[in-house]
Amino acid sequence: MTDLLADGGFGCSVDLELRVDTVAETETTPVEEPSVTADVPAASGFARFGLGSELLQALAAIGYEEPSPIQAAAIPELLLGRDLVGQAQTGTGKTAAFALPMLAALDREQRKPQVLVLAPTRELALQVAEAFNSYSTHLSGVRTLAIYGGADFRDQIHHLKRGVQIVVGTPGRVMDHMRQGTLDLSALRTLVLDEADEMLRMGFIDDVEWVLEQLPKQRQVVLFSATMPAEIRRISQKYLSSPAEITIRQKAADAGRIRQRFLTVNAPQKLAALERVLEAEGGEGVIIFARTKAITLTIAESLERHGHDVAVLNGDVPQAQRERTIDRLRSGQVDVLVATDVAARGLDVERIGLVVNYDVPFDSEAYVHRIGRTGRAGRSGEAILFLTPRERRFLHGLERAVGRPIEAMEVPSNATINQNRLDRLRQRLTAGLQTPATNAEERALLSEIVQRVAQEQGCSSEALALAALELSLAGRPLLLQAEETFTVPRQAPGQAERQGGARPVRGERERASRPPEGNMERFRIELGWRDRVKPGNIVGAIANETGLNGKSIGRIQIFDTHSMVDLPQGMPPEVFEGLRQLRVLNKPLQISRVQA
Ligand code: AMP
Repeated sequence: MTDLLADGGFGCSVDLELRVDTVAETETTPVEEPSVTADVPAASGFARFGLGSELLQALAAIGYEEPSPIQAAAIPELLLGRDLVGQAQTGTGKTAAFALPMLAALDREQRKPQVLVLAPTRELALQVAEAFNSYSTHLSGVRTLAIYGGADFRDQIHHLKRGVQIVVGTPGRVMDHMRQGTLDLSALRTLVLDEADEMLRMGFIDDVEWVLEQLPKQRQVVLFSATMPAEIRRISQKYLSSPAEITIRQKAADAGRIRQRFLTVNAPQKLAALERVLEAEGGEGVIIFARTKAITLTIAESLERHGHDVAVLNGDVPQAQRERTIDRLRSGQVDVLVATDVAARGLDVERIGLVVNYDVPFDSEAYVHRIGRTGRAGRSGEAILFLTPRERRFLHGLERAVGRPIEAMEVPSNATINQNRLDRLRQRLTAGLQTPATNAEERALLSEIVQRVAQEQGCSSEALALAALELSLAGRPLLLQAEETFTVPRQAPGQAERQGGARPVRGERERASRPPEGNMERFRIELGWRDRVKPGNIVGAIANETGLNGKSIGRIQIFDTHSMVDLPQGMPPEVFEGLRQLRVLNKPLQISRVQA
């Protein structure tokens, strides 16, 4: 048994433990020593496995340069025809680890299924089939078919009759086809059980065993599983013969690639906090994880109201629609996917830049799974976890599971969001200048309008440009002025303050929700931290204007772009009018009454 610390080749570090079965070692140990992963020269890539040029060409085209640790360890074993047990999660490159050797050994003349992959979900089955397709682009005559429940049975039979060498399917549907005699496994060479622990968890294990029982005696069995529960061990002992065993432990959940943060927010404020997080942090694709179907719908509705293109993936969404949803996310037609854990399992979309754990996951394994939806294929990713004050106690367990601290963050303020909006507008304007969205003919018409309006109105080109920019806002306010009442709850007594941990948001030393005292009335003024206003400035200006004693001016709360001040009830109209004209720090106070 050899323990290695190898670079994952995806920019992540993994512990690789390769156990080569001693009984079969003379003939079946890989040509290179197991330390192969650590010592391979960088340039050798996949060529060293002796894969054909068609496969190498396809890999080069999709950008695989170096094998990942599981590929380095498993491909030589599988090319030798050995059975194999691989303990590895999605994201380690396990699909190519079995697909490449299967394709290399395929008899393309033979039209009967030679490879059968069983996968727990339709999504995974489709992904695996797609992977086979992409690796076999240059191999003529290779046919791969995904078969799963919920899709048209006759259509699948039609494809099976035409002849396929590789079948990827969910256990139930595969069993149905076998029973009906529409899936002939007499020429089967290899069975792959992908995510075996998931199949166990989802109750498919009897079906899997039934399929195993029906296979030809001479066959290769490959089993991949993220965890190794006793039941999976039993299956592997019963049906696999002297398997090579490979364990890839993903260290710290791709620690290097995923920036993990948490924010503490009271339950009723989660939707508003989410909206802010998306404005400030969302860019490419976003997946939001919620605990129940009902919550996915609530979130989606709220985000839609705020102008996001949202899709939902939960157990109620019919299969055909799920596939379309994932395709829409992949192609960028929607940017935000709201999902439950089960529906999003195995989901592999490269353009996910942010995962939001809107509801805290049930266990640390689910957390690791969820955040693994970002940082795919060597990209970097962001993960943000929402915790209510009571859920803060789960943080430590999650940090232990990922092997690193999860940073605290605050709900993005108006100032941050507004700065983002301005930046985005500038970028859009620049992009619009560089790449016009209209053709020459349309541009000529637009130009005519610009000239005509300029002439009619006698205005400068800057004034015209400003008017056009304002039009582009389509009635939406440029700046967010909303209340910033995200009071971050204080630490529980006796709990050590975390470094960088939750602090009250700037300017929110007082709860805005606390009503004004007895005979006071609340007023809003349009100056905040951003204008560098201090309580002293406000007290001074109001006392001067109204003749009020500084002491009778009540609580002052300063937010990013505005402030609240409590003043004695019954202010005479002319005094109020005077205040309305007032300027502080050379800016209009714009005082208004806050309706109780
Ligand atoms: P998997 O664990 O098979 O789901 O693969 C995770 C992701 O890594 C997929 O997007 C693969 O396309 C990608 N991938 C697999 N092998 C490699 C490799 N050797 N180099 C770069 N990306 C890879």
